[in-house]
Amino acid sequence: MTATYDLFVIGSGTAASVASHRMVAAGWKVAVADHRPFGGTCALRGCDPKKVLVGAVQIIDDVRRMTGRGLTSEAHIGWRELIEFKRSFTEPVPAVRERDYADKGIATYHGPVRFTSRNTLEVDGNALEARHVLIATGARPAPLRFPGAEHLITNEEFLELEELPNRIVLVGGGYIAAEFSHIAARAGAQVTILHRGDRILPKFDQDLVSWLLERFRQLSIDVRTGHSVTAVANIETGFVVTAESSSRTKVDIEADLVVHAAGRIPDLDALDLDAADVERDHRRHLKLNDFLQSVSNPIVYAAGDAAQKGPPLTPVASHDAKVVARNLLEGNHHTPDYRGVPSVAFTIPPISRVGLSEQEARERGLKFRMKSHSVPAWFSARRVAETVYGFKVLIDESTDRILGAHLVGPHADEVIGLFGLAIRNDLTAAALKDMIFAYPTSASDIPSML
Ligand SMILES: Cc1cc2nc3c(=O)[nH]c(=O)nc-3n(C[C@H](O)[C@H](O)[C@H](O)COP(=O)(O)OP(=O)(O)OC[C@H]3O[C@@H](n4cnc5c(N)ncnc54)[C@H](O)[C@@H]3O)c2cc1C
Repeated sequence: MTATYDLFVIGSGTAASVASHRMVAAGWKVAVADHRPFGGTCALRGCDPKKVLVGAVQIIDDVRRMTGRGLTSEAHIGWRELIEFKRSFTEPVPAVRERDYADKGIATYHGPVRFTSRNTLEVDGNALEARHVLIATGARPAPLRFPGAEHLITNEEFLELEELPNRIVLVGGGYIAAEFSHIAARAGAQVTILHRGDRILPKFDQDLVSWLLERFRQLSIDVRTGHSVTAVANIETGFVVTAESSSRTKVDIEADLVVHAAGRIPDLDALDLDAADVERDHRRHLKLNDFLQSVSNPIVYAAGDAAQKGPPLTPVASHDAKVVARNLLEGNHHTPDYRGVPSVAFTIPPISRVGLSEQEARERGLKFRMKSHSVPAWFSARRVAETVYGFKVLIDESTDRILGAHLVGPHADEVIGLFGLAIRNDLTAAALKDMIFAYPTSASDIPSML
């Protein structure tokens, strides 16, 4: 007999979890399915395991910076032990999530899901019918087309390495390449970043990135922008990565490990979307209306990395799922609000942004005042011997509201949330400046940034 659900959720990551719990609480009959262990990217293969590694290398960095300033002992990464520690976070997740679904009365399926018609699906030999379907399948590494691309490992395999090899090449120059390079270099590897674009961390403010690059240099991370990888060959001693520079010079770099950090795309191909008349655009992204609903099959909604409406971040997946749940319960009245979503690259120190970049503000013809300085002499940085600390803040001339904030330095990952709060709540710079922050904290530097 065909099981029928009010909502069938494809995926078991953040978006799936938030939406399914909300809908079951509202009395709907709900099922979730995943072809991998339950938990999704963030908890198992992304944010959380990465941040455990970042936490350890942060301590290494603290010790190195403070040596000669009151600290004497040396610290080293024991990679295998660190990975074991990381597993103490990731390994319990699937069983905990599964139990949680069962406790709430959410049915669970294991296996790849595909549509068989506009409202029917198939998973693990089960034929299912759904009044509504939520596509929450996340993203996967973008396919790379050069010969030897199969030799690259993914983010997932990097976070599972039993040994950290000596020579590592990261292909790509976004936040994953930056974060992994800072982890690997501090754990003792010699790291090269090969990035096709002319700037690494292109989504972050480039003045701040240029200040942060000092730390890449101190770690001897070889950052080569304008370098497109054209081939990877397997040799007796590892791999040879061949790249072509923008001036058409060919370079060969030997490595023990080559890591894919060159972008992620919505994971949709296995769903057989044509069977359900769910259309995609020329970039192969889902065609969704403002309510996160398929334009061609209204019973289908999408959220998170699969939807690609907002930035591919965990809090966005959660936000999307709440919007979808409200639309399912109340009719299509709710659209996502991505104002003030902070982005962080967890380098050491971290770099962050929220709101508009300087270039975006100029392109929109906005009239704004801007304050930007490199301030390593400020107490927040100097007391921990951090040489990279800086900010750029954009304030609307007519409304005095924060248009964008960009930070690099100690606690840039935490402090950016306060600027996000200001942006989402239309607080003026004057109101933020008038705020009384605990002192001495990095947040207490905010008034001086305005
Ligand atoms: C290395 C790395 C680091 C990251 N760090 C951060 C960070 O610091 N902060 C942050 O906010 N974000 C970070 N992200 C992004 C974040 O992980 C994602 O934005 C978030 O997990 C998206 O959640 P989701 O629910 O949309 O999808 P996911 O959590 O990816 O869940 C999708 C699930 O769908 C399943 N699935 C796919 N296809 C099918 C199918 N056909 N049938 C059944 N199941 C299927 C998948 O197995 C997966 O479990 C990071 C990502 C990576 C890769």
